[in-house]
Amino acid sequence: MARVLIVAEHDGATLNASTAKCVSCAASFESSAIDVAVLADDGAGVAAQAAAIDGVTGVVRLDHPANRYAVAAVAAPQIAELAADYTHVFGPSTTFGKDLMPRIAALLGVGQLSDIMSAETPWRFKRPIYAGNAILTVEASQDRPVVATVRTASYQAAESGAAAPITERAVETELPSHTRYVELRSDSGGGRPDLQTASRVISGGRGVGSKENFEIIDGLADALGAAVGASRAAVDAGYAGNDLQVGQTGKIIAPDLYIAVGISGAIQHLTGIKDAGVIVAINKDAEAPLFEIADIGLVADLFTAVPELVEALKT
Ligand SMILES: Cc1cc2nc3c(=O)[nH]c(=O)nc-3n(C[C@H](O)[C@H](O)[C@H](O)COP(=O)(O)OP(=O)(O)OC[C@H]3O[C@@H](n4cnc5c(N)ncnc54)[C@H](O)[C@@H]3O)c2cc1C
Repeated sequence: MARVLIVAEHDGATLNASTAKCVSCAASFESSAIDVAVLADDGAGVAAQAAAIDGVTGVVRLDHPANRYAVAAVAAPQIAELAADYTHVFGPSTTFGKDLMPRIAALLGVGQLSDIMSAETPWRFKRPIYAGNAILTVEASQDRPVVATVRTASYQAAESGAAAPITERAVETELPSHTRYVELRSDSGGGRPDLQTASRVISGGRGVGSKENFEIIDGLADALGAAVGASRAAVDAGYAGNDLQVGQTGKIIAPDLYIAVGISGAIQHLTGIKDAGVIVAINKDAEAPLFEIADIGLVADLFTAVPELVEALKT
């Protein structure tokens, strides 16, 4: 019987929704345990949030000063040690999971399975390849631990349930000192929601025209309580930071609402948003390919339409 360990993604205070999405993946097949590991310097609050996710059978707290910030090189040996009690170790396909899970796999001497989008059995999974244009069925060996990332765009976050037990474990692993946390620089600032799990995302493209003009996108995002994203052309032109890029070589997201402003709709961009709920396109070119897949299309100059929209939202 499968026993699944999920590595919690959090910022020290709040559990990221990606963890509850991993729980949904684990809950889609038969298993005798779905436990969540919380690595923090004081994980009480985050552990309580993880314990309240429906389907979670237990939470393991690993409190240590070295776990104050999420450093993959420090977390991996701790998870690898816990993994002895489990058949599966899951993490989200976010920047956090993509950084951490390959290290855990390497320490356990197995290959990492990327981007689970559905599970047919505990050892048979589907995952996208060629930017989502083909779906591969992968059969993992039952003799070795399955270390995998879960495609967060493919799963809804599990709801709240009865609180699962929380246990504390001492960190006995020797922690590496060659990699240390120095500082976090992020362009997603302004207290906005996390791009990868936000329910609303407003993205700007090359049509926005400059870094200064990108404030128009920020304004609409703030009016809607949304995260900000960008096309690769906008990122390459320096209008927005790299960590805001949406698409094949950026973030794959599945918000309930996605508003693309001044974005043409290249296939590599669409790959990142195809699981979004309602897609809105604002573009002055009525022939822009994004209109073909958008639920709502507005043919308009963004410099007129977006301020009007913000004004309307305020009133
Ligand atoms: C291997 C590979 C990987 C890639 N990965 C990604 C990726 O991850 N993400 C990604 O986004 N792209 C990616 N790309 C790039 C992709 O092919 C496109 O070049 C890019 O998405 C175009 O960005 P854009 O729509 O902002 O720019 P453009 O295609 O130049 O479109 C700008 C749009 O703005 C509109 N516009 C201009 N002015 C206004 C105005 N005043 N009001 C309203 N609309 C206006 C125009 O009509 C136009 O439709 C990748 C490409 C390759 C080859």
